[in-house]
Amino acid sequence: MSQPARAAAGRAETRILNFIGGEFVAAKSGKTFENRSPVDGALIGRVAEAGEPEVDAAVQAARAALAGPWGQLDIARRSEMLYAVADEINRRFDDFLQAEVADTGKPASLASHLDIPRGAANFKIFADVVKNVPSEAFQMATPDGRGALNYAIRVPKGVIGVICPWNLPLLLMTWKVGPALACGNAVVVKPSEETPSTATLLGEVMNKVGVPKGVYNVVHGFGPDSAGEFLTRHRGVDAITFTGETRTGTAIMKAAAEGVRAVSFELGGKNAAVVFADCDFDAAIEGVGRAVFANCGQVCLGTERVYVERPIFERFVQALKAKAEGFKLGRPEDKDTTMGPLISEEHRRKVLSYYGKAVEDGAQVVTGGGVPDMPGELANGAWVQPTIWTGLPETSAVIREEIFGPCCHIAPFDAEDEAIRLANDTPYGLATTIWTTNLARAHRVAAKIDVGITWVNSWFLRDLRTPFGGSKESGIGREGGVHSLEFYTELRNVCIKL
Ligand code: NAD
Repeated sequence: MSQPARAAAGRAETRILNFIGGEFVAAKSGKTFENRSPVDGALIGRVAEAGEPEVDAAVQAARAALAGPWGQLDIARRSEMLYAVADEINRRFDDFLQAEVADTGKPASLASHLDIPRGAANFKIFADVVKNVPSEAFQMATPDGRGALNYAIRVPKGVIGVICPWNLPLLLMTWKVGPALACGNAVVVKPSEETPSTATLLGEVMNKVGVPKGVYNVVHGFGPDSAGEFLTRHRGVDAITFTGETRTGTAIMKAAAEGVRAVSFELGGKNAAVVFADCDFDAAIEGVGRAVFANCGQVCLGTERVYVERPIFERFVQALKAKAEGFKLGRPEDKDTTMGPLISEEHRRKVLSYYGKAVEDGAQVVTGGGVPDMPGELANGAWVQPTIWTGLPETSAVIREEIFGPCCHIAPFDAEDEAIRLANDTPYGLATTIWTTNLARAHRVAAKIDVGITWVNSWFLRDLRTPFGGSKESGIGREGGVHSLEFYTELRNVCIKL
């Protein structure tokens, strides 16, 4: 290893480097970009921006790894290595936590029970899946009476380009890298420009546990005309897995069309909660409150549209308002902080533009709607108030478009069919939550909402063996458990004439 992932370059500043072929490297061009804290706008460090030469070197390193020792490892040995990766992340838990919290500004209490442990677990779960999944076999009759035997074998797809968002950086990245490596591929990861640190730190872990050079590579930069585009256009990349906005997915799909390369997409959402009058009221408030406000509303599976059956509408609005007003905004490391800032000033501008549109479109602002007064240096951070609206027409952009902030609109409904129609009236199809104590209704409604994931009386309860993904404009394909094998392996049929 030539340099550590985050080299000190001045008192408070760190340099975050690319990780290519097992080495931490700057860009040949010398280009860097700033990594700023969303909490107070302070400069965290400078990130080496990969150009085409670095992206090409990373792809070549990945190809070489496949042709070298990595390609020779059997599944048992590969799985042991991935277990070692998870253990080493857990051993360096505090380093990962500090890096993730610095980049995102999210409360340490959240990152320490979600982002980091799940980031580690993703390696173990897929190591287990790959070890235990059988393939299929068919005996067939032939005219000569001797028959034939067909069986399927799974082989790695090759070099996987992994393009990641900023909202759950380590968790969503390892959700792809875990299965990709478990299946025997090599990866080139392009983390979000907003959150470069934990992906880089993972390079140190890979070296420490002896993952061969070039199996895991990281290139930093932006999307168009930068590392993201260079990677997705690169013909040495065999398949691309992407989590991010639907619009970005469209651009990546065009790039992947050259060479007819496979894509797996986890995209945006505009998820509905449907709350029936027969729900467990307190559980619904708790669950919808988390779904709307967790991670400052920056969760793809989060809720931005809430439909509540009319008899409990007013009571629900008041209870969710109380919940929203109970959040404590503050520094991530403070124990009583329950909400952090948005990821960046740019994202805050976007969210505040919807706060403005809501008022223009005639919303009643139940709570929030603006920027909170934050003390001292925090005033330079990307803070917004948790916000609830009522009274908007369903045609408003605030109800149609993904905002990705701590906000929701609540509307009443009178009949089950109406609630289903409202929930489905969106180009997205990622997730929904249904709140009812009527079991028959729960099954009936769940089957009719066109999404990849439906929760009944809960939210974000994830069994990693289950299929994860979106319908309509929320994604292509499913990842999780055996479903990840569909994308990360090529299934070959072998037909033996007996
Ligand atoms: P984004 O689409 O702006 O960026 C995601 C990544 O794509 C970044 O690394 C970015 O640099 C890169 N990128 C941008 N343009 C590119 C291009 N032309 N070619 C190649 N790469 C490019 O998304 P974001 O703002 O980082 O994340 C928020 C979005 O992600 C929301 O829409 C959210 O719903 C979605 N999301 C979806 C899921 C899911 O599982 N469905 C999970 C988390 C986030």
